[in-house]
Amino acid sequence: MVRAAILTAQGEPVTVADIVLPEPGPGQVRVRMHAAGVCHSDLSLANGTLTQPVPAVLGHEGAGVVVSVGDGVDRARPGDRVLMNWAPSCGACWFCQQGEPYLCEHGEDGGREPYAELADGSPVYASLGTGAFAEETVVDQRGVIRLPESVALDHVAVLSCAVLTGAGAVLNTAAVRPGQSVVVVGLGGVGLSALQAARAVGADPIIGVDVTDAKADLARAHGATEFVVSGKTTAREVRALTGGRGADYAFDCVGRPETIRTCWSASRRGGTVTVVGVGGKTDKVEFSALELYWFGRTLHGCVFGSSDPDADVPRLLDMVADGRLDLASLATATTTLDGVNDAFAAMRQGVGARTMIRFE
Ligand SMILES: [Zn+2]
Ligand SMILES: [Zn+2]
Repeated sequence: MVRAAILTAQGEPVTVADIVLPEPGPGQVRVRMHAAGVCHSDLSLANGTLTQPVPAVLGHEGAGVVVSVGDGVDRARPGDRVLMNWAPSCGACWFCQQGEPYLCEHGEDGGREPYAELADGSPVYASLGTGAFAEETVVDQRGVIRLPESVALDHVAVLSCAVLTGAGAVLNTAAVRPGQSVVVVGLGGVGLSALQAARAVGADPIIGVDVTDAKADLARAHGATEFVVSGKTTAREVRALTGGRGADYAFDCVGRPETIRTCWSASRRGGTVTVVGVGGKTDKVEFSALELYWFGRTLHGCVFGSSDPDADVPRLLDMVADGRLDLASLATATTTLDGVNDAFAAMRQGVGARTMIRFE
């Protein structure tokens, strides 16, 4: 038995209970979790914005140590430190063959069938195939990325979703170059990672936008050169900071119609809006036919930071090692498995960035 934070019904609080994990089958690994981050997608899965079969162990951002492996596993051995990967690519489908593993047809297969049992023997799902809000989990070996011995597990978990997504949006999807202007709307773990990556590539100015002034210091600490409180005049203020034109690149790290529109209006003619935040199925964003033509902008969807974790994690770890990325400061609060609901509450109030769950 291991303890896990379980979503019993969407819209209900998460409860902590014991689950029974199977021994790892062929191609599977069992991981003892060291730390897991509470991501905005966990809240969206919990509140019904995103689809989630229940009951489910939430959590998809994590790092831990492999405790056992099934037959035929070659990606990890017992004792290895690993990052969880909630979008493991198969390497064989059309998208993987195109070099777009973040669009793999099988990236979400792990979450479709139950992976463990509740104490009463009923089946339970692993959210996004990962189930990181548990002391241990069992996943396909493609769901882990081996870390070098030199990497401490304390802060690295945030890399597996927030940084791959936020930094990936800047480095991979948009491929921002030195001197280009950047605005990032929504400064949670993903948005702050985007700011850090913009700083790392030498973007200028780097404008952070969030709902309250309370995020101003946090934004600056993560690379913003300017901070704007979101509201009716956000786009005008961004244009004033970018030669009257608007930013070369705008990153929506929220996924709501109004923030996507803000990014649209805050980017320059010919600029690019990258939609990083995961929105709801029924939310509609309106554009006039004329503005789509006239502004010559690119509206770009961004799944998982257009990342190939096997290649990007080592690259991002290099950036951490030489100080261009700072993982420790992305975790603004620490809790235990029992604190998931409080972490969701803080998220709804826009307080802090990442809450990290620590396991004993
Ligand atoms: Zn996430
Ligand atoms: Zn694939």
